[in-house]
Amino acid sequence: MLNIMQLIDNFNFAGKKAIVRVDFNVPLNKETGAVSDDTRIRGALPTIKKIIADGGSAILMSHMGRPKQNPDPKFSLKQIVSAIESNLGMKIQFVDDCMKADAAVAALKPGEVLLLENLRFYEEEEGKPRGEFANDDEKAAAKKALKDKQKEFAKKLASYANVYVNDAFGTAHRAHGSTAVIADYFDENSKMFGFLINSELKAMDSVLNEAKAPFTAIMGGAKVSDKIMIIENLLNRVQNLIIGGGMTYTFIKALGGKIGNSLCEEDKMDLALEILNKAKEKGVKVYLPTDAVNADAFDANANTCVSKTNETPDGWMGLDIADESIKTFDEVIANSKTVLWNGPMGVFEMDKFAKGTTAVAHAVAKATSNGAFTLIGGGDSVAAINKNKLADKVSYVSTGGGAMLEYMEGKVLPGIKAIRGK
Ligand code: AMP
Repeated sequence: MLNIMQLIDNFNFAGKKAIVRVDFNVPLNKETGAVSDDTRIRGALPTIKKIIADGGSAILMSHMGRPKQNPDPKFSLKQIVSAIESNLGMKIQFVDDCMKADAAVAALKPGEVLLLENLRFYEEEEGKPRGEFANDDEKAAAKKALKDKQKEFAKKLASYANVYVNDAFGTAHRAHGSTAVIADYFDENSKMFGFLINSELKAMDSVLNEAKAPFTAIMGGAKVSDKIMIIENLLNRVQNLIIGGGMTYTFIKALGGKIGNSLCEEDKMDLALEILNKAKEKGVKVYLPTDAVNADAFDANANTCVSKTNETPDGWMGLDIADESIKTFDEVIANSKTVLWNGPMGVFEMDKFAKGTTAVAHAVAKATSNGAFTLIGGGDSVAAINKNKLADKVSYVSTGGGAMLEYMEGKVLPGIKAIRGK
């Protein structure tokens, strides 16, 4: 059945109460408790502003962190009220229990905004039972019982509003109370994505379905196992696959190279060879780093040396790509018309091993100015783009690490399916 989806662009919120799932899982400064990066709050502003500008009221709900117990002040959303207020330029209201908001909701007037306390203070949100269990059977029974309670939880949240808007892309891959189950309590015309999810979907779909060649995927990060599914899906779409980061060495060792103490997933070496074979069959060019900056310890102050990636000296580990690889990658990226980047080229958290990742960030920006569509996802690559002040020099920076990976792997995301049916 074709699902006719309600779009936020042409919905009129006048006189309506909209419950909006936002992703306000923002980092807090450990000493001051202030919001240290408000990117996610800024990401939700277009949707919130549209609702109140129309003359509707917005009830915002989110999780923050991973509270293990119910209510835990460390994870209270009360701490971010002032950051939301300064971004929105207006006062907002706050209710300290997301299940006890009836009175506040009833009093909410058009143009007003109410924030509910952290949804994860209730185990119903994630549907994962908390506490200790004597055995797996007991845990499974608790999980089953919690599923019913999760429906009640979602139904209660739904009861606050006439309209449900999901704008939390970062949790769209989770089948949680507020991201998926709640949608069952709204009809097709009164549930929709917010502007942020819409733009995330548009960016990812254009890379998946309308990519101009040459399309280059740059995959980095620690492990092959985390990226295997996305690599397999992309092999059907890209012309070039650049591999960097720790996962390089599983490939290099599988190819018979010497990798010293570099990171390696021994049990994924066959898989690495399989990827290389599949790439060959499909005519995808794979670029593995040819040289590396090695360290004698996993430490910011370690001694370093440069070697071929397949000739890492004993006792050393490769922690970044070196100049020859940077040059090759830079050329491939600059000549691409579509670029997807996920995962750092090295241990970029340490300055000595950040050069490769920084160079790739600049290469992606250069490709963008040459007319390429460039999409960056995953916390670390996004951090590298932000650190180098390149966010406005690339086409799209995704807000959802895990959600983006799963979507690009070709998986159905529960939070997306709940609204558009697929
Ligand atoms: P991921 O979450 O899989 O994208 O991995 C990101 C992490 O991979 C970052 O914290 C990097 O420090 C780490 N990483 C990148 N390159 C290497 C490497 N050569 N050896 C060990 N860790 C690495």
